[in-house]
Amino acid sequence: MANIRTGGIVEQSGIYKCTNTSCGNEITCVKGERVPPCRKCGNTEFRLVRATR
Ligand SMILES: [Zn+2]
Repeated sequence: MANIRTGGIVEQSGIYKCTNTSCGNEITCVKGERVPPCRKCGNTEFRLVRATR
């Protein structure tokens, strides 16, 4: 599954995890919305953990 980046548009709704392994923050992204930066560490890349509808 492709990672999403801050500023991009979410194509799959779901729970995403910050790719900064020392952070591990999880965020909920909704299809069609813009991907935010990680509010914990400022990282700009997230990996899909669990897809939702
Ligand atoms: Zn983070």
